[in-house]
Amino acid sequence: MRIPKTMQAVVYRGVDDLRVESVPVPAIGPDELLVKVAVCGVCPTDIKKIQYGTVPPPRIFGHETSGTVVRVGARVKKFSLGDRVALHHHVPCLDCHLCRHKSFAQCLTYKKTGITAGFEPAGGGYAEYVRVMSFVLPGVVKIPSRNTFEEGAMLEPVNTVLKGVERLGLMRGDRVLVVGQGPIGLMFTRLLQLAGMLVVGIDLMNVRLKLAKQFGAAATLNAGETRFRQKIQRLAGKQGFDAAIITVPSDAAVLEAGEHVRGGGKILLFAHTRRGQSCALDFSTICMDEKDYLGSYSSDVTLQHRVKKLVFGRKMDVRRLITHRFSLQEAAMGIETPASPQPYSLKFMIVISPTRHLGKK
Ligand SMILES: [Zn+2]
Ligand SMILES: [Zn+2]
Repeated sequence: MRIPKTMQAVVYRGVDDLRVESVPVPAIGPDELLVKVAVCGVCPTDIKKIQYGTVPPPRIFGHETSGTVVRVGARVKKFSLGDRVALHHHVPCLDCHLCRHKSFAQCLTYKKTGITAGFEPAGGGYAEYVRVMSFVLPGVVKIPSRNTFEEGAMLEPVNTVLKGVERLGLMRGDRVLVVGQGPIGLMFTRLLQLAGMLVVGIDLMNVRLKLAKQFGAAATLNAGETRFRQKIQRLAGKQGFDAAIITVPSDAAVLEAGEHVRGGGKILLFAHTRRGQSCALDFSTICMDEKDYLGSYSSDVTLQHRVKKLVFGRKMDVRRLITHRFSLQEAAMGIETPASPQPYSLKFMIVISPTRHLGKK
């Protein structure tokens, strides 16, 4: 396969400034891969970085990436030319103090981004080719021929959601409130239902509540409804919810959901990724009511095998979450639009090489 010297990429040049530019195709080392990107999902954490300029430019974002191996380093054994693969950009060392405590996302190796299309490594999926470094190869997964590149690109977000579920240590039959039924909330709903939980999904959009039912919610409620408080209390049961998962970046949602969680229950924050904000929480709810407020950020490579089975076996059927597709040229629009959610918009994909993004079959 002939690989060009330069390629097109969406380069982050500053706050809300994305430009399609021509950049060199990355060179790879003997322990690395070069992957021709097929599709890359649009992730809210990248959107935040672009909107608030939380990291210095220039960078090429995009970390929910799948594609085809087009160059294999001389010392790489596990992959060959033509393999269809889903990439994983953060892999912990599994050996340090933090990793021994399973705080993988805090591990220094984990914090390095192992996939790049140039500049400071930032995922690189919004480009035609990416260089996959050796330390992230353990997270790379081959896509079965019956599955699509888009399903491959969804492994990363599903992994982050499964990690969140694991953090809660729930028992079958537990009642769980999932606040927000966007793509992440819907994935939570489905994974919790598969694990035997009773899920109550809430959102402000009825279209999403309907989807929540299809994804396995036992009950749904519109957060804007009259007498919402009474209704949610009824759904929480006598004791209250065993856990609440907050998939929207709202402090009010955390405080209110916390009230409906039973003593000893858990409140998981999944969307509070912007620093510098604070809110008033009554600490006696932690001390006396023993409610645990916890967070979950990013993925856990040790879950990758389970994630692969869930997505490729279609128990977690991610195909229904993808509602919009944009070309690389239109990427800026695709990346900026999800910032304001619409009822019918869920997961956005940037389709880099359109010919085979739907898979073999
Ligand atoms: Zn992401
Ligand atoms: Zn480590």
